[in-house]
Amino acid sequence: MRFTISPQAAKALRALEAAGYEAYLVGGCVRDDLMGIPPHDYDITTSARPDEIKRVFSGCRLVLDGEKHGTISPVIDGDLTEITTFRADGAYSDGRHPDEVSFSTRLSDDLERRDFTINAMAWSERTGLVDLYHGEEDLKNGCIRAVGDPQARFREDALRILRGMRFASRLGFSIEPQTAAAMHSLAPRLEAISRERVFAELTGILQGEHAMTVLSDFHDVLFTVVPELFPLYMCPQKSVYHIYDVWEHTLHVLDAVAPRTPVLTWAALLHDCGKPQTRMRDRKGYDHYPQHQAVGAKMAERILQSLKVSNAFLKDVCTLVLYHDEKLDAQTAKLLMYRVGPERFEALVSLRRADLLAHAPRVMKELDALEGATARYHEALDKQECVSLRTLAVNGDDMMALGYQGPEIREALERLLLCVLRDEIRNEREPLMQKAAAR
Ligand code: ATP
Ligand code: MG
Repeated sequence: MRFTISPQAAKALRALEAAGYEAYLVGGCVRDDLMGIPPHDYDITTSARPDEIKRVFSGCRLVLDGEKHGTISPVIDGDLTEITTFRADGAYSDGRHPDEVSFSTRLSDDLERRDFTINAMAWSERTGLVDLYHGEEDLKNGCIRAVGDPQARFREDALRILRGMRFASRLGFSIEPQTAAAMHSLAPRLEAISRERVFAELTGILQGEHAMTVLSDFHDVLFTVVPELFPLYMCPQKSVYHIYDVWEHTLHVLDAVAPRTPVLTWAALLHDCGKPQTRMRDRKGYDHYPQHQAVGAKMAERILQSLKVSNAFLKDVCTLVLYHDEKLDAQTAKLLMYRVGPERFEALVSLRRADLLAHAPRVMKELDALEGATARYHEALDKQECVSLRTLAVNGDDMMALGYQGPEIREALERLLLCVLRDEIRNEREPLMQKAAAR
């Protein structure tokens, strides 16, 4: 079989075999290579014990962070290569970590503890593909299937439920029915998983090209880990501007959003989370959601805090949620650059585009305005136009000289800035002073 393997990984396999041990590429790199995707790293599994691995690579710098899990990582020709002793997992009593990990001399033990058949294949030059669970066939058929009894495997480690969704979302695979049934029924066990891990897997799911399908099929799993989103499900959206309910609309925005960065895909998921709480039906039977942006931004903040994300990430997503519904065209571009920060402006345009695409056809004409907004944004950047108080041609001292005092000073500056942002006045000292003086 054809196999592309990095020179460093090839060297590592050969060195272990030359010393009398078995050694294989395993997991993601085998899966990716069979799919024709260049692997992003190579994991090696071997019969050599950690001390023996160290001896074989005594001439290399060794990274030992994973030593207690049996992983020794020699730096081979500048590349970090993870080499792990065959493992067999003991019982799992906490739903995430095996109580004890024992080293094994058999490759089959190591493959048996892996999550999905497509991730449980090994390869070496000597043996070719070792595929005890028909992973290659599942790969061909686009199927995610647990290794062994799915109920038992997700009971051992509930994180695998989200991992399965992540692979389905990334690869566009379907999930084998019994595996899927176990994912649904054991989802409540995800409550035992650390929130950081949940966040990392959810992010992987959201970023996948097939996130819409996976989250549509497994909305119950999502709502188990982010219960705040459950009210979106079947929340009505009776309006001439909409063709979907709020949850379906959210999924379509998620589907359309590009590029699929963590910030943008999370913003897509959360952008309308304030709608269920703010929904009001008018006398004609149409729905309105006053203040849903601000309510949603607050909810998004609580959701992301519960997932222990960084402050920078939280601020990025919540800012997009807060301003996602603003009118965005050439006239308002600079105002929004100021509101969201110039570095978030392009993300706001992307979110708005995806949001419009998930509306009724009559709304599509607003897409043209986004081109105008983007052009105006680039022009403002190129010409270094003023989009902040800092770059306004007058300052606090100027306002004091005109008699403004205390909080009035900032208010006056902000009023002037708004005029500049709307292109109503040039950012020059004379006209700004005149305007401020004429109060
Ligand atoms: P990616 O391309 O996302 O890195 P990957 O398959 O390499 O995909 P990793 O998380 O790097 O995924 O894990 C490497 C391998 O370890 C997997 O292919 C799988 O065989 C095994 N594995 C990882 N996490 C688990 C788990 N929770 N339960 C069982 N096996 C796992
Ligand atoms: Mg990997």
